[in-house]
Amino acid sequence: MESSSAATVSAGPSPGPTPADLLRRLRARGAADPVTHVERLPARAGVPAPWPSWAPPELRAAFARRGVVAPWQHQAQAATLAYEGEHVVVATGTASGKSLAYQLPALATLLADPRATVLYLAPTKALAADQLRAVAALELEGVRPACYDGDTPRAEREWIRRHSRFVLTNPDMLHHGVLPGHAQWSGFLRRLAYVVIDECHTYRGVFGSHVAHVLRRLRRQCARFGSTPVFVLASATSGDPAAAAGRLTGLPVTAVTEDASPRGGVTFALWEPPLLPPDSGPSTPVPPQSTGDHDDLQQVRRSALRETADLLADTVAEGVRTLAFVRSRKGAEVVAANARRALDDAVPGLGDRVAAYRGGYLREERRELERALLHGDLLGLASTNALELGVDLVGLDAVLICGYPGTRASLWQQAGRAGRSGQEALAVLVARDDPLDTYLVHHPEAIFGAPVEATVLDPANPYVLAPQLACAAFEAPLTPADLALFGDGAKEAVDQLVAAGALRQRPTGWYWRHRERPEVDLRGEGGAPVAVVESSTGRLLGTVDGGSSHFLLHSGAVYLHQGVSYVVDDLDLVDGCALVHAEEPDWSTHARDVTDLSVVSVRSYVDAGPVGMFLGEVDVTSQVVSYQRRRIATGEVIDTRPLDLPARELRTVAVWFTLSPQSLTLAGVQPADVPGALHAAEHAAIGLLPLMATCDRWDIGGLSTAVHQDTEAPTVFVYDGHPGGAGFAERAYGTASAWLRATRDAIAECGCESGCPSCVQSPKCGNGNNPLSKPDAIQVLDVVLANLPE
Ligand SMILES: [Zn+2]
Ligand SMILES: [Zn+2]
Repeated sequence: MESSSAATVSAGPSPGPTPADLLRRLRARGAADPVTHVERLPARAGVPAPWPSWAPPELRAAFARRGVVAPWQHQAQAATLAYEGEHVVVATGTASGKSLAYQLPALATLLADPRATVLYLAPTKALAADQLRAVAALELEGVRPACYDGDTPRAEREWIRRHSRFVLTNPDMLHHGVLPGHAQWSGFLRRLAYVVIDECHTYRGVFGSHVAHVLRRLRRQCARFGSTPVFVLASATSGDPAAAAGRLTGLPVTAVTEDASPRGGVTFALWEPPLLPPDSGPSTPVPPQSTGDHDDLQQVRRSALRETADLLADTVAEGVRTLAFVRSRKGAEVVAANARRALDDAVPGLGDRVAAYRGGYLREERRELERALLHGDLLGLASTNALELGVDLVGLDAVLICGYPGTRASLWQQAGRAGRSGQEALAVLVARDDPLDTYLVHHPEAIFGAPVEATVLDPANPYVLAPQLACAAFEAPLTPADLALFGDGAKEAVDQLVAAGALRQRPTGWYWRHRERPEVDLRGEGGAPVAVVESSTGRLLGTVDGGSSHFLLHSGAVYLHQGVSYVVDDLDLVDGCALVHAEEPDWSTHARDVTDLSVVSVRSYVDAGPVGMFLGEVDVTSQVVSYQRRRIATGEVIDTRPLDLPARELRTVAVWFTLSPQSLTLAGVQPADVPGALHAAEHAAIGLLPLMATCDRWDIGGLSTAVHQDTEAPTVFVYDGHPGGAGFAERAYGTASAWLRATRDAIAECGCESGCPSCVQSPKCGNGNNPLSKPDAIQVLDVVLANLPE
């Protein structure tokens, strides 16, 4: 979400406490200080640059009218590279004005060449709408910017295709609408000068791999029509933006990473909720199921959700406009509900000024929440995803981040919501019971130092490549020259499509054999989304992605929406719909699955004496088989009920390591403790992988065993949870020693006695976190690290 830095819309004035005062008050509440680190990010003066000589006076004047008197240095640098025809990615902080870097060359070109066109891609409709407002506000003659997405009325579409010269859309629309209908777009594509890809770091994993091929299809159509557009990408800061942008576009891309924009000071606190006394049990009525955050054993740390809800209530009570980011959709609703309750207890009615917000809401509900926060009817909002929010929400007084959001890019994106020009703001990262969060709040250098995490995608994934090639063939027959464009594995994928009867080979190329276009969902690796419908009214409450539906929407599951509790009556997988009724039982539900894994092939391995490290293909079978009902107040298990859901099969990529039984005995791990040692190491390793690659632990799965039938040795597997792999396991293999070193440190540094959710317990364990041995896990990892070359 970017706005030119000078044009940031800020919320109204609020003479609240200074961030330092606010933080002092917040941390003084409990007995133990929960703050592990405070980083003061000082205000920074911007480094302006002169307007590039090629920028026409009327464009400069238009920006000046919007309050941009001169570009910042990084904007001018990236803009000039792009204007000179180089593909460029500008990877700087939130609100650093990345949009000017592409608006400047794109609009200058549109003004200089009355025929030229620009295509802008955003990951969300909301962001495209914000950009449309920004470009339209420049009131440039003949540009006629327009959004073209699923909401665009049919009647307007033809006008846009014919007359707009700055079309804003998203990869899904490009994939489903523009490219298959390229004949109608030929005039636009023939004259295409720039392709702008905003927030390009969001294209990662399987979705990113799909988008990479959608962009190759776009390049192919442009080439057919005779245009070679320049790609300008905007990215959050990350490990290697040029390489990631290159992988995404398939083109050589130059990176501009030196941020020269001014920045308001931010006080950034790392916050670790206190350990609860061992015998106190769950102290608060937060439904654990609602988050997936707390699974099996008694709660050891105070829940990050509860902590965030309290912080939200406290900041709102201070009149501080606060946004709380919570990872799970249900978690956001729980935080809002608890903050509302706390505020109402203090001042009846004050709770109304807090709400929950998430992407699954219907469009009207989302707009209403955005409006209310902007106008101050709301002071506190708990949300799941920064990208769904409008640009007007930059400039909050405080941002609470409940749990590391999985990537540094998201963390900075979310923290970047805090602070309006000239004012200090507060950001707080509240650690969850999770090994990565624990590691980060005790290793601030991993947050505030140089980024190591890379945006990972794998365009060679055959499960992505084949359907994308089918789409390309539908759009125009594939030629041998096209195969090079689509990269490694394209020939094999085409041969498979021919064998499967989808393509026909002729002397001139490969032809799509069917009348209908191939059905390919860019985001659909988990299956189609499941609609949640209230049976009595037929009202659509929202949607849940197919991959999570077995866990969240099985019959009997308790499902939360806007703080209201529903119980699922029936999950209909054929129709993709779950029927629910409003009910607030005093239990929560926790789904369980069982997993089996077999090795298909080994791609690469390191033979390190008693230790082996492998990368290869595996088959994973998993099935949600039962769920537990637990008393919310006490965590007591009421019963376990069986479920009859189909197994899900997955061929994917895994990284795994083996150890010889002798090396474990030598390290003091008794044979009886080997399963618990490996299992604990597996959980923590999964938890720490997001430090190395942009994934979260829900993207990855694991399995450990004292003897695996394929390796015949004690083994820990970590696999990509997506068909064909998403690049995560590959990254883990490539950074194995750094990854497992961080894993070892996270376990060793956790203050708990025998393992807790902050180190070796996992919220998604199919075995109920049993067995687990924390000290032996450290021994296992020490053996691996001692033998593995750096
Ligand atoms: Zn622990
Ligand atoms: Zn487990």
